[in-house]
Amino acid sequence: MSHPTESFMQPVVAALKAGRRIDAVRHFQAAVAHQTGLGGAGLAAWVEQQLGRKLNSELVKALAQYPCMGCKKGLVICEDCEGRAQTDDQRMCDKCTGLGAANCDFCGGSGWITYRFVPVGMRSAVVIERAKMVLNKAQELLAEPLPPPGRKDAKRQRVALGQAVLRANRYLGALDNAIGLCKRPQQQEHQAQASLQRVAAVCRKAASRLEKRVRQALKALARLEADQARNSQNSSHRDRASRRSKYFEQRAASASFVGTSLDHLHLRELDVLASSAPARPKSTPRSAASSRSHGMPSIAPAPAQEDTRETPDSTQEPDERGVTDPGWRPAASGE
Ligand SMILES: [Zn+2]
Ligand SMILES: [Zn+2]
Repeated sequence: MSHPTESFMQPVVAALKAGRRIDAVRHFQAAVAHQTGLGGAGLAAWVEQQLGRKLNSELVKALAQYPCMGCKKGLVICEDCEGRAQTDDQRMCDKCTGLGAANCDFCGGSGWITYRFVPVGMRSAVVIERAKMVLNKAQELLAEPLPPPGRKDAKRQRVALGQAVLRANRYLGALDNAIGLCKRPQQQEHQAQASLQRVAAVCRKAASRLEKRVRQALKALARLEADQARNSQNSSHRDRASRRSKYFEQRAASASFVGTSLDHLHLRELDVLASSAPARPKSTPRSAASSRSHGMPSIAPAPAQEDTRETPDSTQEPDERGVTDPGWRPAASGE
């Protein structure tokens, strides 16, 4: 209480008080970069002493929610197909799983800044905060039913299902990053080892639920395209829809996502991504979320999150070619 705030931390305080989180993080980064002796083991305690509990927790949130600078919500236009979702020779593009949007390389598709950007000494606090946020978001996502089948508006449904895949995959990317960090904490974070291991375990469980969701959405896409193929009068549309259907069906059942945006290294190493590959071909869940299995594990009683929320953009035109994430717009015009 009796420690005066250092002058170089004043801009951080001012920005946090004004709710300018991005600025707060920038000022904080500058302070850590320019003040010798800052960083490492004692950093978290020192920062809390400087800011007080409330602003300290604001800063941790700001770091946890700082957006990646290389993408929009974890996605970039797939460079293999340039967002067209299929290759020149009419095959579905594997890199983006036929969705047109691929994971950003910087953040692994999470859309939040990588932990390398977070000063050592603050990382364990930030990974815990971010994991809580992602678990909450994942829980919300899993509680939403997948869009029900409706033949009238196939385009819209295709987009909605693609978004369901991409949103789940975004959180998978974030959980993968968290697990990666928890597995290899820096020297300075060793005192947090036990809580990090707990975080990793919780993230792993959540990831396996999200991964099931990805497969359910892919299956629903396969059914949608099969429907389209059945009902189309136009032979080239029919062929295309049937190609897509087969592809999504295959992807939904495949044991490995290696080589695609759905693959996540640490989760793969933990066998999360293979564990829910369906052994039998059909299980017909009408609405995936009706399987009351979305009780998410939690790290701690999670506080209500403000933030960076996902606002589905209702004005978005469904894109015939790639499937798009909320807020994600491919450069190309429609077909
Ligand atoms: Zn692609
Ligand atoms: Zn990114």
